[in-house]
Amino acid sequence: MNQTINLASQIQEYLPRQLWQAVNTVGKKATELGQKLYLVGGVVRDLFLGRPNFDLDLAVEGDAVQLARELARVSQTKLTIHPHFSTARLDYKDFSLDITTARREVYPRPGALPVIEPGTIIDDLFRRDFSINAMAICLTPEYYGELCDPYKGKDDLERGLIRVLHDQSFKEDATRILRALRYEQRLGFSLEPRTLQLLQHDIPMLDTVSSERIRYDLEMILKEEAPEKILNQAYQLGVLQKLHPSLKGNGWLAQKFEQARQLSKKVPLPPLYFSLLVYSLTETENEQFLLRINPPKKLTQLLRDTLHLKRHLPELTKPALKPSRIYHLLYEYSPTAIQANAIASDTSKIRQRLELFLYKLRYVKPLLDGTDLVRMGIPPGPQLGEILKALRQAKLNGKVRTRTDEEKLVHNCSSR
Ligand code: ATP
Repeated sequence: MNQTINLASQIQEYLPRQLWQAVNTVGKKATELGQKLYLVGGVVRDLFLGRPNFDLDLAVEGDAVQLARELARVSQTKLTIHPHFSTARLDYKDFSLDITTARREVYPRPGALPVIEPGTIIDDLFRRDFSINAMAICLTPEYYGELCDPYKGKDDLERGLIRVLHDQSFKEDATRILRALRYEQRLGFSLEPRTLQLLQHDIPMLDTVSSERIRYDLEMILKEEAPEKILNQAYQLGVLQKLHPSLKGNGWLAQKFEQARQLSKKVPLPPLYFSLLVYSLTETENEQFLLRINPPKKLTQLLRDTLHLKRHLPELTKPALKPSRIYHLLYEYSPTAIQANAIASDTSKIRQRLELFLYKLRYVKPLLDGTDLVRMGIPPGPQLGEILKALRQAKLNGKVRTRTDEEKLVHNCSSR
C-alpha cells in the first residue's frame, strides 16, 4: 500500500510567509465552496528539489472562476478571468496566483489545441508533460499537505529522470520534445530510456506544431542558464534540424554563447543567442527559418540584420578606415546584430572595429545640435541636416574637439 506523504511543514518552510498565508486562505475559501484545492506543476517539483519557484499554479476540483471571484470580493486583489479556459489570475500586491479548474484534455488531432472538460485532480495531472511535473499537494484543510503523485514523479525526481506519462505524449503535443530537453539539461537529469525512444520516434511530429508554439519553446530554451547544452542535445538527437536542416548546436555555438554571457550586463541575452543560432545559416535559409518560427517584427529584423551585416563584414577589413566610415557602415544595424557579429567573427580587425563602434563611435555626438545651428542663422532644411552630418563626421575623426571648433566648421560649411 502507498504511504501518504505529508508536506505541510515543507510548504511552510519553502514559501515566503505572505504567499503561504495567501494559499491557505484560498484553500479555506475553496472548502467553504465545497471545492478541493491543490498546488500543482513546477512548484511541487521545485519544492522537492529545493529550488526557489514562487510562480504558483493552483488547481481546483470545482470552479476556478467562482473561487477567484469570491476571493477577489473579500480581499484587495485584482482579478483577471479567462472564461474559455476556466482560469483566473489573482494579483496581490507582491505576487500573483493562477487558479485553474482541474480538467481533462482530449486531443482532436496531433498538434491541435486540446478540447477541455472539467475533471478530477488525477485527470488534471494526466494531461501534463512529465511525471516530475505531474504532482500536486492538497491545500484543503482536511487533507492539507498530502502529496498526490499518481505517476511516481517523486521517484523520478530522486532518480533524475524525465519520463512522459504515456506513449502518445509527444504525438499529442510535440512541443514536449523541446520541454523534455530543457528540463533534462536544466536539472542535470536524463531522459528515461522509453521516453528517449518515444522522443526520437516522434521528432517528425514537430511539423504538426504551430510556428508560435515552436518559437515560444525556443525562447524558453534561450532563457535557460546554459541554452547551448540544450541546443547541443537537440542537435545530437536531430531535433534542431527539424526546425531548420542547417541549424547547428555544436561546439562553435557553445563557445560563442559563453562569450555572449560574459557581456551579459551590457546586452539582453535571448536575442543575442538567437542571432548566434542563425549565424551559420545563409540569408535564404534564415528566411526559411523565419517562416517556421514567425517571430515578431523586431526579432525578424534582428536576424536579418545579423546576416546582412555578416555579408558586409569584409568591408571592415580594409586598412586605414576612418572612424566616420566605420560609423557609416554600421549605424543602421541594431547593436545586438553588431554584437553578434563581433562575437562570431574570427578576424580580429573586424572584431576591433565592431567593438569600436559599439562601445565608442555610436555615442559620439557633436556639442552643437539643430537648435544651436538655427540660432547661428542656418535655416531649417536639408542644408542644416548636411551640416549636422559634417559635424558628426569631423567629431568622429577627431577634427573638432571644442565648441569653438564646431562653430568654425559650421561657418565654413554655411559660407560654401
Ligand atoms: P518552469 O520552471 O520552466 O517555469 P513549470 O513547470 O512551471 O516550469 P510552465 O511552462 O509554467 O512550467 O507550465 C506549468 C505546468 O504546466 C508544468 O509544470 C506542466 O505540468 C504543465 N505543462 C506546461 N506545458 C505543458 C505541455 N506542453 N504539455 C503538458 N503539460 C504542460
